Order: sequence, then C-alpha cells, then structure tokens
Amino acid sequence: MSGLEDLYREIILDHYRTPRNRGELEPPAIKVDGHNPLCGDEITIYLSVDGEGEDAVVADIKIGGQGCSISQSSASMMTSAIMGKPVTEVAAVMRRFKSMMGVEGIELEDGDDALDLGELEALQGVVKFPVRIKCAVLSWNTLANAIDEALADS
Ligand code: ZN
Repeated sequence: MSGLEDLYREIILDHYRTPRNRGELEPPAIKVDGHNPLCGDEITIYLSVDGEGEDAVVADIKIGGQGCSISQSSASMMTSAIMGKPVTEVAAVMRRFKSMMGVEGIELEDGDDALDLGELEALQGVVKFPVRIKCAVLSWNTLANAIDEALADS
C-alpha cells in the first residue's frame, strides 16, 4: 500500500517539477482563468478546438498560472490526458475524475467505468484531504468553461 502511495507521490512531483504543456496559445485560441481562493491557486487555460459540436476535438491546450503542487500537477496531468481527444471523451474523463475525487452531483454514464484514467489515478489520495480536492479539480472546472466557450464560438 505504501509502495503505491510512493508511486503516486512520485507521479505528482514529476508533473509539478516538469509540467507538461506549459505556455500560451495565440488567439483565436480560447483563454480562460480559474482561481481557487481557498488555497490561492491560479490556472490559465489556452484551448484550441477543431470541429464543431460533438465532433469537436482538443487540437491544443496550454497551461499558465501558479499554485500548490496538487493544483499544478493536476493541470499538467489533465493536458496529457486530453490532448487530441474528442470533447465527448474529455467530458467522460472529467466525470470519472470528479467522481474519483468525491465531487458531489456527478452522474456517471454507461462506459465511464471502463475509462482508464492513467496517471490521474495518482491524485486519488487527495480525497483524504477535503480542502485539497478543490486544488485538484480547479483545472478541470476551468477546462469545462473553456470548452463551453470554444464550442459557443464555433
Ligand atoms: Zn492548492
């Protein structure tokens, strides 16, 4: 059990120290800011989407901002998990992730249980620290806003 916790800690630290997809995207990419006042975490998401509606695909995503290791590593893992994916699949991963994090009001749909969360599983230990759950889901809530905005524009 502690071996698994060590592995999870290593994955989180790796993404914190070497964040994936840091940077900015030029307009017309969508830019959305997210803030977790409880911890002071800030996330800026730059999102570029190809296609429209259910056929839309995450063409590119970049992350800016600063905050605790949970918020920043969660954002980094999120970009790796959703790059190039259809928005419908991103929504499914988001439901699975939030459900794992114990966020209330998340209803899983058929097939969600079969999804492989990959490195995102490393964040499941955060559930034991309720104040940190907001750190872990900040980037996902910000992403949801960015996708809504991107699809409204197309
Ligand atoms: Zn935080």
